[in-house]
Amino acid sequence: MTNIDTTTLIDWLHRFAAVAADKREWLTELDSAIGDADHGANMARGTAAVIEKIDAAPPATIDELLKTAGMTLVSSVGGASGPLYGTFFLRMGMTAGAVTELDAAGFGAALRAGLEGIVARGKPEAGDKTMFDAMSPALDAYDAAVAGGTDLPAAVRAAADAAATGRDATTPLVARKGRASYLGERSAGHLDPGAASTTLLFETLADAVA
Ligand code: ADP
Ligand code: MG
Ligand code: MG
Repeated sequence: MTNIDTTTLIDWLHRFAAVAADKREWLTELDSAIGDADHGANMARGTAAVIEKIDAAPPATIDELLKTAGMTLVSSVGGASGPLYGTFFLRMGMTAGAVTELDAAGFGAALRAGLEGIVARGKPEAGDKTMFDAMSPALDAYDAAVAGGTDLPAAVRAAADAAATGRDATTPLVARKGRASYLGERSAGHLDPGAASTTLLFETLADAVA
């Protein structure tokens, strides 16, 4: 696969929803240690709402698809993760534009815009123990792979691997954003739930483009 099309992105969102439902209890367990034990429910509910929306009226273009996903997440998830993931998809869609496929560089630019949306909204910085700590290294790995001539499926797999490494590196960190930051030093020693769900986002993307 050299380009990524609307159908592949629809498949991605289906896979992400299925995994969010499957990993719901794990995500909740992670959030119960340093948050309010709703991350699994938030992700499962939000992604299920996205699937319901796009299955009812499958969008033809990438911007329409991702904007629908983003708006649905913002409106169906009350927690911090809803607006953050929602903004990610909205910005991705705005950057992709009314097209039916993107090449590796264009897709990378859309992902980057999505991350910038999260940063604009939540102000996360590296090491704050958030979803940023999985997503930022994932996009760096993706960009490096594409710049080095790696094909799109392998570049996305590299992104997923980097996300997992970033996720695991959140364990010793003290949270500086979100509910977990209320715990101060006691937030250390636990994996960040949002970094865990972001890793699932990239792993399912890698499966969709494989
Ligand atoms: P809530 O904390 O409102 O219950 P969730 O439990 O669904 O929402 O999501 C929590 C996750 O959201 C955290 O694990 C973290 O990764 C992410 N998060 C929270 N606040 C921020 C922020 N300001 N910037 C980036 N990510 C954040
Ligand atoms: Mg929570
Ligand atoms: Mg909550």
